[in-house]
Amino acid sequence: MICTESEKLVIPYINNELSGRKLEEFMNHIKTCSACYEELEINFTLFAAVWELDNNPNASYDIKNMFLERLRLTEKRIKRLRKINVLSRIVKITAAAAIAFTLFAQAAAWTEDGILESGRNILFEFADMNNIEGGDKNE
Ligand SMILES: [Zn+2]
Repeated sequence: MICTESEKLVIPYINNELSGRKLEEFMNHIKTCSACYEELEINFTLFAAVWELDNNPNASYDIKNMFLERLRLTEKRIKRLRKINVLSRIVKITAAAAIAFTLFAQAAAWTEDGILESGRNILFEFADMNNIEGGDKNE
């Protein structure tokens, strides 16, 4: 992510409107770009801190700490989302493997039935032919 993109996401971040990949990319940029970090901190101080102080009677007046706490919570959220992504990927792979196994087992069973069935038919045909021949001999 470049600085101009990051600048556009500062207010959406403060308003909790970022999620997923965009949030992760934004946080990665903020961590490595001091100019954008400062931009975010200034905006956070102006907007979010004023809102907190107006609406939350228990708000701490330590705005710097509020900002750091917010960053910490975002990191936590990103880590949780990453874990959920990994888990859902594992579930999908497991489900796909189970389906593949079921199809394979079913196909194997059908093939086996088919072989047994045709084997049985050959035996019956053979027995019928012998009966008819036997019958002919008895008559
Ligand atoms: Zn930047």
